[in-house]
Amino acid sequence: MDLRPRGLPRIGIVGGGQLAKMTAQAAHPLGCSVRVLERQPEFPADLCDTDTVLGDWDDPAVLGVLATDVDVVTLENELVDAGALEAVAARGALVLPSPATMHVTQDKLLQKRRLAAAGLPVPAFRDAPTRAALDAAAADLGLPVVVKRRRGGYDGRGNATARDAAGLDRAWERLGADARGLYVEVFVPFVAEAAAIVVRGRDGGVVSYPVVETVNADHVCREVVAPGRFDPALAARAADVARAAVAAVDGVGAFGVEMFVGRDGEVLVNELAPRVHNTGHYTIEGCTCSQFENHLRAVLGWPLGSTALRAPAAAMVNLLGAGPGTGEPHGLARALAVEGAHVHVYGKTRSERGRKMGHVTALGATPEAALATAREAAGRIRFGEAT
Ligand code: ADP
Repeated sequence: MDLRPRGLPRIGIVGGGQLAKMTAQAAHPLGCSVRVLERQPEFPADLCDTDTVLGDWDDPAVLGVLATDVDVVTLENELVDAGALEAVAARGALVLPSPATMHVTQDKLLQKRRLAAAGLPVPAFRDAPTRAALDAAAADLGLPVVVKRRRGGYDGRGNATARDAAGLDRAWERLGADARGLYVEVFVPFVAEAAAIVVRGRDGGVVSYPVVETVNADHVCREVVAPGRFDPALAARAADVARAAVAAVDGVGAFGVEMFVGRDGEVLVNELAPRVHNTGHYTIEGCTCSQFENHLRAVLGWPLGSTALRAPAAAMVNLLGAGPGTGEPHGLARALAVEGAHVHVYGKTRSERGRKMGHVTALGATPEAALATAREAAGRIRFGEAT
């Protein structure tokens, strides 16, 4: 028997990773309950008193089980098939972001075309459905280029940089040749990477968080500094671009917008993620209302909360697996001894090299002070054995 009080919202989330876990943590104080859909048992959100559906999220019947008796279905990844979401929506479920938004954003080529059509600045790009088309596009754009899978890439796994003809051969083979849809874009010699979380409500009302500086290595986010140490005019322009990008895909909910900053201060959109985002984890302790709570407010049709920073600056450092091992964090006690460091351990059962296992956030009087605290604590924790 279900003993939960009537009238309190229930959220269905496709995916049960750390993003679903942190969303569930934001849902509970609001009286909301959460059901997640995962493919296998043992996932981070399971640590958070969520209801679970196990199954394939691309199967409309399984998605239908997730959607039963929930107020809204949302997602923590962009991998789920938009057609399957559409099938569930057609049977009456409220799915946000909408299946149409998911269709455009989960295909990086369609997304870039949509952003370009809306007049937003993006790196020059071309479709590359065949090897000949890739060669022609590279000749047209000029080397180096970044070859990308249209769908299913994350943490750089669907990308390859090509600097010459041999590099194009390697990229074509590594990314799955014409069995996978590929496209290509110019390599942007950016001086910095920026990001902003934008949250749009069901009524089109919008809030955005500070434009942050992100540091990526091997295509994976390592550190985030809020606010980013940018010229104020540049930050304002980036915030406008980020909001316009989310409006261009008719987004509802939280979106992570990743941008490149060029030498002359130009801002280009790299990509937008139709979900809460790693570059917004600092908002849990760093902002009045976190990206997770604001995402829930948006998809439930509630008023959006303040995105103001609670301190002059905040910083986040990701805890990446050093190598294979259990999900046990070595050095946690030493990290907790760092005053002001907020440690998050996702609860994944296996560590792999480069896998996101947790993160640390710190606030500070300056970006440098916040970063120093977060780095100090993060440096004391290790997951897995270095290889
Ligand atoms: P994913 O979707 O796997 O996160 P992205 O396409 O966002 O991959 O790329 C990840 C990182 O790779 C970016 O943050 C950036 O550092 C680098 N990158 C991606 N595209 C380009 C590009 N066109 N020029 C230069 N660097 C790029």
